[in-house]
Amino acid sequence: MRKTIAVKLSVLGVLAVSVGACSPAPKADYPVKPVPFTDVHLTDAFWAPRLETNRTVTIPHNFKQSEETGRVKNFDQAEAALAGATDGKFCSQFPFDDSDVYKVIEAASYALATHPDPELEKYVDGLAAKIAAAQEPDGYLYTARTIGGPPPQDWVGKERWSNLSMSHELYNLGHFYEAAAAHYQATGKKSLLAVAVKSADLVAKEFGPGKRTNPPGHEEIEIGLVKLYRATGKTKYLDLAKFFIDARGKTEGRIPFGREGSQELLYGQYAQDDKPFIEQTEAVGHAVRAGYLYAGAADVAALTGDRAYIVALEKIWADVVGTKIYITGGIGAAGGWEGYGPAYRLPNASAYAETCANIAAFLWNSRMLRLELDAKYADVMERILYNGVLSGISLSGNRFFYSNPLTSYGQHERVAWFGCACCPPNVARILASVPGYFYAASDDKVYVNLFAQGTGKLKAGGTDLEIVQTTEYPWKGDVRIEVKPGKAVDFTLCVRIPGWAMNRPVPSDLYTYTEAAEGAPALKLNGEAVELKVDKGYALVSRTWKAGDVVELSLPMPVRRVAANEAVEEDRGRVAVERGPLVYCAEGPDNDGRVSNLVLSDGSALVAETRPDLLNGVVVIKGEAEALSEKGGKISAEKKTVTLIPYYSWANRGRGEMTVWLARDPAKARVAREPGLSAKAKVTASEGAVNPRRVNDQFEPEGSGDAAGAMHWWPKKATSEWIDYAFEAPVRLSEASVYWFDDTGGGGCRVPASWRILYKTGEDWLPVNPVGDYGVAKDAWNTVKFAPVRTTVLRLEVQMQNDWSAGVHEWKVK
Ligand SMILES: [Zn+2]
Repeated sequence: MRKTIAVKLSVLGVLAVSVGACSPAPKADYPVKPVPFTDVHLTDAFWAPRLETNRTVTIPHNFKQSEETGRVKNFDQAEAALAGATDGKFCSQFPFDDSDVYKVIEAASYALATHPDPELEKYVDGLAAKIAAAQEPDGYLYTARTIGGPPPQDWVGKERWSNLSMSHELYNLGHFYEAAAAHYQATGKKSLLAVAVKSADLVAKEFGPGKRTNPPGHEEIEIGLVKLYRATGKTKYLDLAKFFIDARGKTEGRIPFGREGSQELLYGQYAQDDKPFIEQTEAVGHAVRAGYLYAGAADVAALTGDRAYIVALEKIWADVVGTKIYITGGIGAAGGWEGYGPAYRLPNASAYAETCANIAAFLWNSRMLRLELDAKYADVMERILYNGVLSGISLSGNRFFYSNPLTSYGQHERVAWFGCACCPPNVARILASVPGYFYAASDDKVYVNLFAQGTGKLKAGGTDLEIVQTTEYPWKGDVRIEVKPGKAVDFTLCVRIPGWAMNRPVPSDLYTYTEAAEGAPALKLNGEAVELKVDKGYALVSRTWKAGDVVELSLPMPVRRVAANEAVEEDRGRVAVERGPLVYCAEGPDNDGRVSNLVLSDGSALVAETRPDLLNGVVVIKGEAEALSEKGGKISAEKKTVTLIPYYSWANRGRGEMTVWLARDPAKARVAREPGLSAKAKVTASEGAVNPRRVNDQFEPEGSGDAAGAMHWWPKKATSEWIDYAFEAPVRLSEASVYWFDDTGGGGCRVPASWRILYKTGEDWLPVNPVGDYGVAKDAWNTVKFAPVRTTVLRLEVQMQNDWSAGVHEWKVK
């Protein structure tokens, strides 16, 4: 029997561009083309139902919210103003609210491309008409200014383009260009594209060498301009995208922007504007801004062959993947500026990891993958997609997370919408386009980057080809790939061997598996084992392919324990659990309500169990843990079965405890304590109190700045406020301890100017007689003893500082 099997190493990743001086440079682009989502059809149990929920629930939900919150009406108001109305009013909260409508249009366009829906198409056409009508005669599009009434924020700036750092004028347009390109590609209609072209022509007239040279504070227009270039073929849009990237780092940017812990951030860093892009080596500042910049820069690098861009992107990527990415693929630790913190600072309960930041990093990595054809980028993409992106949306498709913490004490809950609603429509557009990230192809290579049951139609070696995947991924690691070319054809099939299957959770030493792998990936071609040679994360199979050839990939999927690099203080003495591409977590409903008191010691067995009935069908992981609790002053450890669920599926059963990083060392567990007097008290607070019941939830903060778990009165300032503890029967009290919330650097809460304790006697409130001072120290308990009182209600009275609000993490009494 003759076989032509060649599994060989080949040199990949060389950007297909030349910049020869004497011959015209060929038109550069990514060395591979993604197989568009319209040619990939997923029929699996994991993605297909999600995409259907996205189409039938999430997209309509986003449109409805955009209507109900005035976002759509803003376009009507702008149209009225252009017709001469002088009583216009911006109907929502932020000048970037236009962009939410654009993102849903982009999502709806993707849905229309695969599921014709005349009603949806008509609705989108209606929105397109409103947007066109809101555009000023010269092409300017920004409802917050055109409406002419009081601007929603001083961010809008007195004149056009005068406050680009915060106006989001160019940011909105980036999302608009993406939407217009998607709408054109989905429907063939040029209605939105024409508005986008008119807008971009104005921007090109206003900005560029010798004209305005200030870059947008919030990047995104770069990605949009590249899409507009691809849709129209007009190189001036590509040039403009490059101009905006090169314009960074030329402004002052030395204005202090914020502080979190010991890290101080300057405005220039916040907006990646502190140095020229090609000199940037670290990911800093606002993580969504950063992610869109890096994605846009990758596009421009691919289309221009600019090597300096690639060098910068590689350095920044190594910084993110080596020191700043959560195990869940979450991006951005610092809530103070919604962005990157210092290296290795990855707090769990207060993790920011904004859904949009995770999406932006996913988009960036998908571009790095196409640029360099190295599967390490697909490893990061997959981690972000299955964990950090999916966690942003409920299983029902209409509840969302803005930040995606890795630990909760019950303070987190998905909601239907946000005042700043960037995340919900962003998830909608990404989910609608997910099939487009599975395959890529060049003339002689076909890449299988992600796994799910379904088909992909593409071209290789000039021949039409269908790829049929049969698999139960991500629950099982066997993937059957049938190759069906129209006629026999030579090419190399590049099958990604995921990093997790090669004993490497991330392409860095930030996370490692604690034990050696059981089993190794294996590949068969037409039933015969093939020696697995992996180059840049791909198994390469070169041959003359004919219809019916089958490659079978077997990826063992044992349960793995992960440890973080010792430099990550928050994760020391802790362990995370993974299986395949999924990160797991322990959540209250599966574990009698408590998970923070569990200790998962190294030796205990962990077993996967299929649960079709749970959370739309998941594989859970079960193991033996110890639960620490305190009774009568004694701490005991009780053996207990712990059940872990995929991280993406948490918070679909109400509020409660959750943790990704379980205690491995008993000292890291939070002992479950008997509820003391404070925990039993009924809490009420003065008007405007946000989450008052957090004061007696018995969870001690990591510091005053810990954004999770505090109550506060923001945005009230300088007022006197109170919190009452009411007891069922009179109690004798002689001590109160307060842990103040103070988010200096990021928010408006500070320790108070003063406070005192009062108790109720009859109808009167009397101050207690303190022994010593009422302290206002940060990052500490402020305890005051007082002459014993007998009462049914104790009051904590707080006088805020002038110009500041106040808040409380925890208040204990005894
Ligand atoms: Zn967002």
